Amino acid sequence: MLKLKNVSKYYYQDGVVAKGLSNVNLELHLGEFVVITGESGSGKSTLLNVLSGLDTYEDGEMYINGEETSHYTEEDYLNYRRNYVSNIFQNFNLVNSYTVFENIELAFLMNGYKRSDIKDKVNDLINKVGLKKYKNTHASKLSGGEKQRVAIARALANNTPIIVADEPTGSLDSIASQKVLDILHDISKEKLVIIVTHNKNEVLKYATRLIKMHDGRVLENKIIENINLDQNLKSIDVKDITWFNKIKLGFRNAFNLPIKFLLMVAIFLLIIVNLITNYGSFKKSEYEEVKGYSNIFNNISDKRIIINKKNKKSFDQNDYDKITNIKGIDYLVIDDVLNEYNLNLEGDYIYLNGNLYLKEINNVSKGKIPENDNEIVIIGNKENYYLKENELLNKEFIISDLNQKVKIVGLLYDDNYNEYNIDFFVNDELKNNILLNTMKYYNNITYQINNVTYYDLNVIPNSNVNKGEVYISEYVNNIFTNCLNKKLDIKIENIYYNENLSFNIKEIYDNNNIHKLLNIDEKENDFNIYINYEDYNNLFNKGNYQSSVFVKDIKDLENVISDLEKMDLNVLSLRNAKIDETEMISSLYNIFKLIVTIVLVVTMFFITYFIIRIIYKSRNSYYTTLRTLGSSKKVCISILMNELIILASFTYVLFIAFVILIKTNIINYEYFKNIIKYVYIKDYLIVYLILIIMAILISFRYGRKIFKDSVIKTYKETI
Ligand code: ADP
Ligand code: MG
Repeated sequence: MLKLKNVSKYYYQDGVVAKGLSNVNLELHLGEFVVITGESGSGKSTLLNVLSGLDTYEDGEMYINGEETSHYTEEDYLNYRRNYVSNIFQNFNLVNSYTVFENIELAFLMNGYKRSDIKDKVNDLINKVGLKKYKNTHASKLSGGEKQRVAIARALANNTPIIVADEPTGSLDSIASQKVLDILHDISKEKLVIIVTHNKNEVLKYATRLIKMHDGRVLENKIIENINLDQNLKSIDVKDITWFNKIKLGFRNAFNLPIKFLLMVAIFLLIIVNLITNYGSFKKSEYEEVKGYSNIFNNISDKRIIINKKNKKSFDQNDYDKITNIKGIDYLVIDDVLNEYNLNLEGDYIYLNGNLYLKEINNVSKGKIPENDNEIVIIGNKENYYLKENELLNKEFIISDLNQKVKIVGLLYDDNYNEYNIDFFVNDELKNNILLNTMKYYNNITYQINNVTYYDLNVIPNSNVNKGEVYISEYVNNIFTNCLNKKLDIKIENIYYNENLSFNIKEIYDNNNIHKLLNIDEKENDFNIYINYEDYNNLFNKGNYQSSVFVKDIKDLENVISDLEKMDLNVLSLRNAKIDETEMISSLYNIFKLIVTIVLVVTMFFITYFIIRIIYKSRNSYYTTLRTLGSSKKVCISILMNELIILASFTYVLFIAFVILIKTNIINYEYFKNIIKYVYIKDYLIVYLILIIMAILISFRYGRKIFKDSVIKTYKETI
């Protein structure tokens, strides 16, 4: 039983009060087919909306099964509608992008039915309203009469005791109207059907009660057939939509409107690409090699890290194996002093200067890989003047301080070099030779003859000299007088060890006998003294105390340093050891860049946020429909949230696939590849998190907006 007692409703608009209903008294029962007529503006819809809980009233009292409703909250009304009422609207209120099946299914889903239970019920209803062959047709493709039959089927889905229809035939022709009314009549036996019409003739044959409205009042309340089943309206059993079905609807809504789908993918893609490229470029500029110089080191590459053992012992193979296993290390230079060697080549009118290239090379751009000891390769930028002209290829040079002839047999182009810098790749033998000749410069050496200390001598290894012997020049012999067979002590000191060896002065050389004694063409320097190779190594080459590792990428620097430090090594990164006078300016510049990036990203976030909100305005009718089907605010929000999260994730997966294609070089896009090199998995996850947060924020805001007004107001705004 549904009863109104002196119910009045007012509309407030622009400060004016309009009367919707005044002092309406009515009592409606199960089994009735109530027809409400009256001219336009007489209050028919208002009465219907109050009866069906879509709108509130101000005065009087409405009783549901005898229970007062004036204290009802929004939630109470929601429950009343869900438990008792189904609505049919003049303009159908279907979801146009859904099929007939999906539209009817929606009513079941909103009331917590399980997937398996729904299918047969929906098919039964489709048959009942005679739309079997349109089952999979989109609602937008149907005629008005067919649409209204879908709406009726949907209203019947939940088997509520009250069916309310506001001008259901208002926009139908007479044949379609008749069909709709027949169905409504058919179902009215165990229900309370209330319909509003302006054409009472077409319904008169079914009506059991006729109500005529005028100016918000009930002018006539005529019982045509006395039906009083004398039963309470029986509330149906409703549950909330299952989480599975919420996700299912999220998927359906994400993909079923192609234009909205593409727009959303484009927008999410815009956000992702923007965030990633901004972040990546920022990181990249941070990692780019910093300028600077060093008074101590020759090779000042930012990728270089110098290491030695904290216990001052020499490295062994085990150490090197562990070091080379560290992730991010490109290569290891065991003999660190090679890094400090600056190779000078003198040739006809050309003078070249560069560092040793200490990585292996497998191919050259021009010429060939060295095979012999005296063959070398030059590495540098393609735009380098000498390399560009190829004029160096097959030219012979002399290594200044070794007095050794070499020939350039290959050129290797590398974009990482600037136009002026070059490196030299040499064979192991030459490398070793350089090592022997340079090592002594890292030691404090004192020479003693007859207990007199002398600093200016220069010890050189020579294979003609026997172990334990030393050859000195006639000049030195003259200074100390009669040195032959006397003792010469060499004492060396470096940061890792001290060594002291005693030699027997075996020969005195001069210009005449130097070739015979030492196989040297002519005397170079009076201060040169010659010892055996083994002795030389015993003095200067007692093991490796200091090495350098080079990282693959500057971004690996920090990780490699911390891994090395864990191995009980002293670690010096060249990047941090350089002197850089522009540091202050560049760090200010970096802060400025960071601020600009953040502002850009935040602006972007809000722009896209508002675009998405505008796109979702067009979804108001959909969510209002859900609301009329008994969906709470919470349910609406979570369905929208699912949809947005699915769209965001879909776009995100697309983007990640694109990143993988670029990283694996299947797509060749150098610019982007260079940027994403600096973006870690952690950063990708943060971007995803931002998308999800956006989806959640939008859903909540949207939900609040949709539920701000009563159903009927929102509904009116959307049509
Ligand atoms: P009917 O359905 O019989 O045409 P309504 O119930 O829609 O009539 O309207 C009854 C009266 O209430 C009319 O005077 C109408 O102008 C007024 N009215 C209806 N809805 C609103 C509203 N949302 N705001 C202000 N006035 C309204
Ligand atoms: Mg109306």
